[in-house]
Amino acid sequence: MILQLYLHFPFCKRKCLYCDFVSCAAGEDEIAAYCRALEGEIRAAGACFPDAQVSTVFLGGGTPSVVPAPLMESILRTLRASFSFRKDVEFTSEANPGTLTEAWLDTLQAAGMNRLSLGVQAAQDPLLERIGRIHTFAEAEQSIRLAQGAGLANINADVMYGLPGQTEQEYLDTLRRVCALGVTHISAYSLILEEGTPLCRMVEEGALTVPDDDTCAAMTEQGIDLLAGYGFRQYEISNYAKEGCACRHNIGYWQGEWYLGLGAAAHGMVPPTPAEAQQGAVRIRTANPADARQYITTAAKLPTERTTITADEAMFETMMLGLRMNEGVSLARFEKLHGQSMTERYGAQLESLVRDGLGLWRDAPGGRAFALTARGMLLQNEALLRLMD
Ligand code: SF4
Repeated sequence: MILQLYLHFPFCKRKCLYCDFVSCAAGEDEIAAYCRALEGEIRAAGACFPDAQVSTVFLGGGTPSVVPAPLMESILRTLRASFSFRKDVEFTSEANPGTLTEAWLDTLQAAGMNRLSLGVQAAQDPLLERIGRIHTFAEAEQSIRLAQGAGLANINADVMYGLPGQTEQEYLDTLRRVCALGVTHISAYSLILEEGTPLCRMVEEGALTVPDDDTCAAMTEQGIDLLAGYGFRQYEISNYAKEGCACRHNIGYWQGEWYLGLGAAAHGMVPPTPAEAQQGAVRIRTANPADARQYITTAAKLPTERTTITADEAMFETMMLGLRMNEGVSLARFEKLHGQSMTERYGAQLESLVRDGLGLWRDAPGGRAFALTARGMLLQNEALLRLMD
């Protein structure tokens, strides 16, 4: 069985104003207790999947780079002892400028990390400050150079658009300056004003304004063109890569591979037990407690939640996740996963998407695939709603 691993580190130096991820500032003792609990969960999970071959590892957060190197070293030793890794494993860690150190990079690289994902967000310091980031753009540049100097060639930069007061030119300038740093992958996310975050309140109260939908759509389109000029191909709604540098972990997730989510708030997708299969489950979504303190006390009995995914739900999920990617969902892959043809299940809906210019059939590796057009990508929710009919 091929398995992907996600490990969550819910700690950040300070909360960004737009953030509703599971993360908080924490003291050394709490981080150490969390890491011990995580090691316990890793050992237990490894024992449940003794034959698994790990194809990708992703350390996310939060900010994995705030976890001290010795604690990280111990976690990664436990990970290596509990699972078999494939030789070509893709091993990514997220990190944030202002927290990345040489010692931390050394530790992670010694454990096999071969890909870094750095939260850059914008090249203009006033913008970074407005959204509550803890770093400047110069610090982001330094972090990328530090990682490159340590021999890491495969580096992603996260950037954001639709930020309060951000102009189209500022966004495009961010992309240009990030490309000039020699990264191999860029994830460009449009700001989502999450209910209850300080930034959302500031916008609701009129203290800040964000670009309107048309401006954000223009930013998306101009960003795609600009990045293509630098050799970055868009392969998913928010993701762009140089040749051969698309993120295998995320592609596996969008293509329905099995994955374990370890750590607070982590979700997984695993095969059902025979008893669950008898009840109609074809896949099981797992979820750990979101609260780090609760996680620490319950880690030995994780995951705490197992949700049944039925055959029909699994088919919709294949379409929902697969249509995020430019190459779309291949007919052969759909049939292999579900034992049913995509056209049999969704024929009428796919025809209507093609008719309205939202979808198309294309030739892809492994045969014909259904994908969204550029307009369909912009109106993805509408396209997916039709598949729910
Ligand atoms: S660094 Fe990331 S996870 Fe941490 S507060 Fe900022 S947005 Fe949230």
